[in-house]
Parts: sequence; structure tokens; C-alpha cells
Amino acid sequence: MSSRFALMIVPTDVSDERGDFADTFTVVDASAPALSVGELSTQRGDGVFESIGVVDGHAQEVEPHLQRLAHSAKLCDLPAPNLAQWRHAVSRAAAECGPGESVIKLILSRGVEHGPTPTAWVTAAPAPDFTAVRRNGVRVVTLDRGYDLGAAERAPWLLLGAKTLSYAVNMAALREARRRGADDAIFVTSDGYVLEAPTASLIIRSGDRFLTPAPSGGILHGTTQLSVYEHLEKQGLQADYGTLSASDLAKADAAWLVSSVRLAVAVTAVDGAPMPTDAEFTASLNAYLLSPR
Ligand code: PLP
Repeated sequence: MSSRFALMIVPTDVSDERGDFADTFTVVDASAPALSVGELSTQRGDGVFESIGVVDGHAQEVEPHLQRLAHSAKLCDLPAPNLAQWRHAVSRAAAECGPGESVIKLILSRGVEHGPTPTAWVTAAPAPDFTAVRRNGVRVVTLDRGYDLGAAERAPWLLLGAKTLSYAVNMAALREARRRGADDAIFVTSDGYVLEAPTASLIIRSGDRFLTPAPSGGILHGTTQLSVYEHLEKQGLQADYGTLSASDLAKADAAWLVSSVRLAVAVTAVDGAPMPTDAEFTASLNAYLLSPR
């Protein structure tokens, strides 16, 4: 697709089963202002979102994204999104995406201060060209997340398992990684366990076994990691969840950061120490991730 597309949504109750929900959608000019100045998404980052990869007009892994949207909304005490309505909105946006890779974003915010309903919208836009990074990989640094592995359970108000709009910390971590001469970061708990990257999940390979940090509240459960695991298991490979220490990462035989739009990128170095890579395997993962899922 060559330009952006935006759809404002009037959120409906989960019990609303009307036909195609078209009467709840308004196409707006994506280059013009569309939000009220009282909008809590912009004032406080108070809302949740999803980014869905689109390949040749096919939105990938829509159901896992919708399930995570609902999960994030629940953690944030937002009204449950009517997933049938969002499914239609995704189809409407996907229909605007032409050949090549695009990204559809779903945003559900707490709405306007003192307003009656959440604000909801969907956008579609061309995806950045990630061909080179998929081929070349990323150098990462480990960054202290500032809390221990038990924080998510102990302090649910930190919303650690929700994909909230408050990504300023994640963006700051990426800037810090660049200041340290790397391309990306992997968060590590204060007690030494690896979590995830600021915008991606981590998968490591240790011998014949693939491992990813268990999504027990402290990190997002990545839709791409789930999809990669399904793919690995179909090939008879062992793919598990676990508690990974920073030294497990350093000793890994290979590692990848995986996410919906950039897809799979090999980790080529951790804190300056080279990490073995498998270019052929990474290419096969990306071929799978680019196929209709
Ligand atoms: N973890 C974080 C913090 C993310 O922001 C993302 C994606 O943006 C992911 C993991 C990967 O999730 P997904 O594979 O669903 O894109």
C-alpha cells in the first residue's frame, strides 16, 4: 500500500452481534487530526494496542492479536472489546492493503477525560522494509528492567503483561541500546532473568531445544513466538517455556528476537560478545512467517 488508512470505531458491547458493524466505522483522513485534545491515550498513554503484520493484504494471526487485545483491556479495567466488531475492522483495514508488507494497528484508549466511552481506531500503513535486518540480525545489550521476576504477580497495577500505549520506557531502552553501540536490547530482571526485548519476544536455541521466557505476567505473550512454536513443533522440534538466566542467553547456541512486523531477526552479539547464528534457519523462519497464517 502506498498511503495510510484510518478507521474510527464506535465500540459496541460484547453482546452486540449486528451484521458487519459497518455502521460503527467511519473512515477518516489519516493525515488529518482525528482525536480530541482531552484524549487520555495521548495525555496519559492510557489504553492498549496491537500491531498486526499484513502480507499481500492478508492480516496475520488475527485471533491471537484479538485475544491479547482483550487480555490487555481486562488488565487495564477497560470495557471488554467486542471481538466480532474488531475482526470486521481488521478485515476492512486489510482490504486497503495492497501487495507487499503492511501493518495494521488497533488502538483502544480510555477515551476522552470524563467522556462516555473508550475511543477506538484502526490504522493501516506500509511496513518499514526489514529485509536487511532479517538477513543481518541485531547486536543486543542486556538492560536492567529495574524489578525482579516476582514483580508482575506482586504488583499487578504495573500492568506488566498488558500491551499498553505507554511505550516511552521501551523506546528509551532502544535509545540506550544505540548509545551503547547495539541495535536492540533485552530486558533482564534485577535478579538476573531475561525477559523480552522492548518490541519483540526472545527465543533461544540450546542444543536441539528452543526456549523462551515464560509469559507469567512480566512480559507480553508474543503472537509471533506462539506461531514460531507451532511451526517448530510441527517439525518435531522441542520448544519450551522456562526461566532463563542472563548466563543461559550468553551460552545459547543461537537466539532470535521475534515480532509481528519485523518478524525473526537473529541476535548476532550480546553485550559485545558474538553469538553464533544460523542464516539458513533464520531465512526459513522468515519464509514461514511471511506465508499466510
Ligand atoms: N514484547 C513486547 C514488549 C512487544 O512490544 C512485542 C511486540 O510489539 C512483542 C513482545 C512481540 O509480540 P508480537 O509477536 O505479538 O508482535
